[in-house]
Amino acid sequence: METIRDMENRSYINGRWVDGDDGTFDVINPATGEILRSVQQVSGAQVDEAIVAARRAFASWSARSPLERAQYMRRIAALARRDAERLARVVVIEQGKTIREARGEVAATAEFFDYFAEFARRIQGEILPSDFAGEQIWIQRVALGVVGAIIPWNYPSVLVARKVAPAMIVGDTIVLKPHEMTPLSALEMARIFDEAGVPAGVVNIVNGVGRCVGEALTAAPGIDMLTMTGSVPTGKRIMAAAAANLTPVSLELGGKAPFIVMADSDLDVAVRSAVTSRFMNCGQVCICNERTLVQRDVYDAFLERFVAATRNLKVGMPLDERTDMGPKVSRGELDKVHALVEEAIDMGATVAYGGGRPADAPNAGGYWYSPTVLTGLDAGMPVMQREIFGPVVPIVPFDTLDEALAIANGSRYGLSAYLFTNDVRAIMRAVNELESGEVYVNRVGPESLQGFHGGYGDSGVGGDDGMHGLEAYLRKKTIYLNYSGAPTAPIADAC
Ligand code: NAD
Repeated sequence: METIRDMENRSYINGRWVDGDDGTFDVINPATGEILRSVQQVSGAQVDEAIVAARRAFASWSARSPLERAQYMRRIAALARRDAERLARVVVIEQGKTIREARGEVAATAEFFDYFAEFARRIQGEILPSDFAGEQIWIQRVALGVVGAIIPWNYPSVLVARKVAPAMIVGDTIVLKPHEMTPLSALEMARIFDEAGVPAGVVNIVNGVGRCVGEALTAAPGIDMLTMTGSVPTGKRIMAAAAANLTPVSLELGGKAPFIVMADSDLDVAVRSAVTSRFMNCGQVCICNERTLVQRDVYDAFLERFVAATRNLKVGMPLDERTDMGPKVSRGELDKVHALVEEAIDMGATVAYGGGRPADAPNAGGYWYSPTVLTGLDAGMPVMQREIFGPVVPIVPFDTLDEALAIANGSRYGLSAYLFTNDVRAIMRAVNELESGEVYVNRVGPESLQGFHGGYGDSGVGGDDGMHGLEAYLRKKTIYLNYSGAPTAPIADAC
């Protein structure tokens, strides 16, 4: 890789690298606290230029055959695989996840383009009987137009693919804003779009902070659909802004996943899974294990093994192959998580492990937090209700499945839920009664590309992935074709 200083720091608009007109912002390496790169912020006028370019590109892009669009996407996937190690290292230095996790993220980035390319021959319509002789009715799915996409910092590479790939295959064009803390991975993807020969204006990447560039994008009347992944407060602001233009939205927001462990489960599998599901990506995953609920008969044994497994996690520099957990993404996120832990302790929680910054932090400047286990909580405490989004897990005992389901559903979020048991009746009750968009039984995430990733309640509106996610990027057109050679007769006349 060339040095960070040589990495792209401009925006990609209409197939060209463009200087931003609205100053710069710094991208920080969370493992060291050092500035990686100063990135140029675009102005509102430049956001409009990107939307105009996307609108202009839409006519010819949507007129191409899906198979032709798929060829570009397969090239993008191949280039992402060719550059996988470089892309993974960029994810690590700007976001802080471990290199092993980043390689997984980049592999999924390529997968998204290959997966959605497969829809080239699968976007189907419907043929309906007409009320009239000599008439054919059909409904076809057509491209929407220009998509506005806004993504968070926790998966800066794969979330580009999750938004761009479905837009590309259906014939939409897109203007995407990465998170201001992690724009470098998106710019690396822009470099790949450029090399793949994607026509100018089809994909545009604009850089800047949410309250400037994000708001310019969400307020713009030239956007036909807004898709955003991020926090609940931002999701609400975006939905309100979109309402002014009647722009449809798809919002993938936060989560507070319950992780239910029944006494009959394989405890080793449940412990390993609960640890992975809490501490991967330093706990910064929307479907992470946010509340571990363990049946009382096995609570002590579970806790003992969970703490032992947590103690074994190697917190370290994220580029080190042996590291299990890297730093939090930013000082602000670190402080937010620590405040939640301190509040829980003030309210009577016990720290079973961790509980603060590690004494022997891998680097003095980074945003490190020890993997932390809290006990002695009740379901109403803020740490059991608010999204932690960090390496902190409350572990709570329960007696009956009824009780576990009540705690699980006692949240405004409803993104994902986990159940570990071999009891088929418990499984089916949980499947039927858990109020969440995803239920994982005896396994951890991540979700699969062919599934549907969407939450209930505060976790969002709409969703991503698979054929149902693709629907958001399409609209329907109904055709009434009279081929009878005569005017269509009203039903009364025809009788
Ligand atoms: P965030 O809401 O702070 O930021 C998300 C994006 O919105 C960023 O690009 C930001 O610049 C932009 N933004 C901020 N204010 C804006 C405004 N007023 N108008 C338009 N855009 C604006 O979220 P975050 O901290 O980056 O991400 C963490 C959150 O994302 C967590 O709650 C997590 O659960 C959620 N998340 C959800 C999913 C999912 O699929 N459901 C996946 C990943 C992350």
